Amino acid sequence: MKRFFSLFFGVFSLIANAQIDNVPQDYFKDPLDIPLILSGTFGELRSNHFHAGLDVKTQGRQGLEVKASAKGFISRIKIQHYGYGKALYVQHSNGYTTVYGHLKKLAPKIEEYLKERQYNKESYEIELFPAAGELSVEQGEVIAYSGNTGGSGGPHLHFEIRDGSQRPMNPEMFGIEIQDTRDPIVDGLFAYPIGREAHVNNSAKRQKLRLIPQNDGSYTTNSVEACGEIGFGISTVDQKSLAPNKNGVYKIEASLNGSPVMNLDFQRFSFAESRYLNFLIDYEYYSNHRKRVQKLFKEANNPLSIYNSVVNEGKLEIEDGLDYNYVVQVTDFKGNSKTIRIPIKGSFSGNITPKDEEKTDYFTSYNQTFSIEENGIDIYIPKNALYYDTFLDIEFMGDTVKVHHDDVPLHKNITIGFDVSDIPTAQKEKMFIARLNAYGRPSYSTTYKKPSRFTTGTRTFGEYTLVSDVNPPSIRPVNFKDGQWISGNTNLQVKISDDLSGIQSFRATVNGKWILMEYEYKNNTLTHDFTDGVVTDTENNFKLIVTDNVGNINTYEAKFFRKN
Ligand SMILES: [Zn+2]
Repeated sequence: MKRFFSLFFGVFSLIANAQIDNVPQDYFKDPLDIPLILSGTFGELRSNHFHAGLDVKTQGRQGLEVKASAKGFISRIKIQHYGYGKALYVQHSNGYTTVYGHLKKLAPKIEEYLKERQYNKESYEIELFPAAGELSVEQGEVIAYSGNTGGSGGPHLHFEIRDGSQRPMNPEMFGIEIQDTRDPIVDGLFAYPIGREAHVNNSAKRQKLRLIPQNDGSYTTNSVEACGEIGFGISTVDQKSLAPNKNGVYKIEASLNGSPVMNLDFQRFSFAESRYLNFLIDYEYYSNHRKRVQKLFKEANNPLSIYNSVVNEGKLEIEDGLDYNYVVQVTDFKGNSKTIRIPIKGSFSGNITPKDEEKTDYFTSYNQTFSIEENGIDIYIPKNALYYDTFLDIEFMGDTVKVHHDDVPLHKNITIGFDVSDIPTAQKEKMFIARLNAYGRPSYSTTYKKPSRFTTGTRTFGEYTLVSDVNPPSIRPVNFKDGQWISGNTNLQVKISDDLSGIQSFRATVNGKWILMEYEYKNNTLTHDFTDGVVTDTENNFKLIVTDNVGNINTYEAKFFRKN
């Protein structure tokens, strides 16, 4: 029996993402000579951000030739310990920029340009903006060698195409070819009662729905009994043809009784909005299950631009006695898709399991500031740091404070301050603010020190306390010993580490001259390459000073000999 019904109540909103036209085709060529096999797609859901490019696998190796995707000039060189590691940016005459990250080494003329400036600045980390004409490159010219520098979990090339406003765009839109004939994988589906009185399957809590495979490759679910304002969430990944990696999907669409409700895709986003990923996913579920469930509805204060259209914020208003058919379709860039059909039966039930809402004394709205002080410890939460109105769980426990739970995301830094006026100066110098992990182990939180107050900014809720670090960093030579001849060595390697507050800085010299040492935090190694040509004497006095985050210093000195 079919009944006529009105679809939506309340706010009707339609958001249209500007249509992206005139994306140049065949302008950009592959940055590597090998077939592009991905370990990461554009828009893929990562920690606190959407992935801004393609992660191209480099056959488990480093040192593959990386080629300029199109003619242009090197417009930016950024070398950092974390993030993209060694990265190159090429500006093209059509306004786009291509980015190449986690590089091992740059091509000789660019490497020479960089090293001259690193030696002038006496720093490994550096950011340079060469002018047009300084470092021109042809399409296909080798500009670098692939590596694993920075925040990279294995050898690969991170490749981006950015528009004229430095917004990353999906490289596949430009004709960068990635083989893919497999359908996306859906491995989780959830229903969310949203409205105050709403319920799903007799509960006011999130419900996991069982996916029932159909012969045509689609899924269905058992009939969902619901009433009031509800929404859905999906856990989905895409696998390309040539690799088992679980990548992000391209597009998600939802409809109710044939009318579109929500449509999002990953064509382009801006870095400024990337952290709002925490708004797209069910963050609490992610924190506790390590699986990212994308909500198919959006809160009014969610500013993400990945939505092409959203009707009534993607929420469904389910009425007693009516039947609905909700359909979700997930699609990859090549158009392979997976469909899930969810029958919904509107039924008002008087006997439902209520939401467990933890009420505390500290309620705050997401769009208001919150502050509290007790026992010399203060907490300040700025406006819009929280995504939702929240009952905060705050506990002052002597010198430690519990600031809510780390399964609630923060968009901006909150400030935690400690009154240290009663602590003797000598003791204070060795102290820092630490976050305690689930096992009570402290990790350094960047600490700003004033004589009577320490503060830290953090985007992670949890327990914070003051910790002392009295031990200087450790330094251990890897491929040489004091007094040794090392003419056969191509480099000088030293391991550095710090047990508590962490490495803040290091400085290495040979015979009083600063030498460039590249820092690889993943294996705690500093490396000086002798081909820099600054170590020219036979007898060399090597000196390395390493400082931790509270200022403990370790100095290591050794003599080595080289025939030149
Ligand atoms: Zn990447």
